[in-house]
Amino acid sequence: MNPPLLPHWWNGSAQTGSGPRRPVISPLDGAPFGELAEASPADLDASVRSATEAFASWSRVPVKERVQPLYRFKQKVEAHIAELAAIVSRESGKTPDEAAAGIQRGLEVVEYACSLPAMLGGGLLEVSSGVDCYTRRHPVGVVAGITPFNFPAMVPLWMFPMAIACGNTFILKPSDLVPAAPLRLAELLKESGLPDGVFNVVHGGRETAEAVLDHPGIHAAAFVGSTPVARSVFLRGSNAGKRVLALGGAKNHVVILPDADPALVARNLTASATGCAGQRCMAASVALGVGPMDGILEAVAAEMRKVRAGDSMGAIISARSRDRIHGYIDRAERDGATVLVDGRNPVVPGREGGFYVNPTLIDRLDPASESVRDEIFGPVLSVLRVGSLDEALAIENRSPYGNAASIFTSSGAAARHFEMNARAGMIGINIGVPVPRDPFGFGGWNDSKFGVGDITGPEAIGFWSRSRKVTVKWSASAARGWMS
Ligand code: NAD
Repeated sequence: MNPPLLPHWWNGSAQTGSGPRRPVISPLDGAPFGELAEASPADLDASVRSATEAFASWSRVPVKERVQPLYRFKQKVEAHIAELAAIVSRESGKTPDEAAAGIQRGLEVVEYACSLPAMLGGGLLEVSSGVDCYTRRHPVGVVAGITPFNFPAMVPLWMFPMAIACGNTFILKPSDLVPAAPLRLAELLKESGLPDGVFNVVHGGRETAEAVLDHPGIHAAAFVGSTPVARSVFLRGSNAGKRVLALGGAKNHVVILPDADPALVARNLTASATGCAGQRCMAASVALGVGPMDGILEAVAAEMRKVRAGDSMGAIISARSRDRIHGYIDRAERDGATVLVDGRNPVVPGREGGFYVNPTLIDRLDPASESVRDEIFGPVLSVLRVGSLDEALAIENRSPYGNAASIFTSSGAAARHFEMNARAGMIGINIGVPVPRDPFGFGGWNDSKFGVGDITGPEAIGFWSRSRKVTVKWSASAARGWMS
């Protein structure tokens, strides 16, 4: 029997579509669990028509009413969280606990979007006698989100609640590796009373994403994914006249000073490097130890050995990704580094067809090596030993990325020096994963973000809406010009 079709979603219902089909594989066991229908140009057109028709009425609904379905949606997601986490786990390889935690984080954005009625009001000022100016926020139009494989529900949740609450209608193009969770979110939005056509899903890979970016009926696009793709998405969408915000990849540095608490470092660093099997943009991937660090490294190694793929840690998204991660470890070892904890080729009983790498700790690396430079996107922590905090900062500053950076220390002065001089958009102090938390917007610097503003938090209002200034004079006097 063929695995079930994972349809598109527009006009408030599942749509078979007319593009080619291919299997979707679960990383947990390597078995197909569904069939993806890739969007044809006609499918994308149909979804844009659905969103355009819905926009005509949705954009005129007052914001206080627009957020009502989102209140209900939050409760529905909470009621179905175990079911949703199981879907996310099956398609992305996360553990069910990690999958549920990601959905919970995403719901913080829903909560924030529900508070938009308190924030969307504009200012009013009497600019001349009898003349008032005020601003009003308007939606942008039909907008799109293009999302990565590593958070099938959370990253879409970063985007559509704010976009919808601002009065836009939304087309999601999820990663073709994880198409199932967004469909369940679409069903729950409909059950929450969101009008048909306000939220739509089209499936596919690069071609579909490019068609979204080129489509003249779509007016803005948010993107989350790898840096090379983020850069090209930003340029392509901007070229097509859209506003675009594209979040890219990461190589996050963690500095450990000699006065750091070893137990805290070992636990946090391990959780940061191995959570979601290292497949998150906030993962610690380079540890910069200042001064003697053998003791701390032994503690980190001991923590890492407790984490087992297929049990307390999830799977790698594909066989190709697993082999790529193995390649980095192989080459580091060949080039003279010491593999302190070796996670290559674990056997997960009963899941021999799945894609797994155990936590891996590599010491004595060359600062210029590919393991220190590249985003490996797996549970691999590369260690560099440095002589001072400023030497550590110089290495961090050389990275083209700038998503997150953390320091472990008991010195406030050292922490502040780090905070002021690291080149990253999110800083952790005695925190391994300074994750996005609403109401704070988030996003990286340098090659980790292309475009201006944020997709969540207060700056998201600027991205998902546009402001209009109105000048009003109701006074009868014609004697004075309004500029006087
Ligand atoms: P990816 O860049 O391969 O794919 C992301 C999305 O872009 C997918 O929907 C994919 O179908 C589409 N796509 C692929 N090639 C494209 C192209 N040439 N043009 C247009 N669209 C294209 O990323 P991924 O492997 O799915 O996700 C992992 C990456 O995402 C990592 O680099 C990770 O750091 C990053 N990420 C960043 C953040 C952040 O907040 N900065 C959050 C999560 C993930």
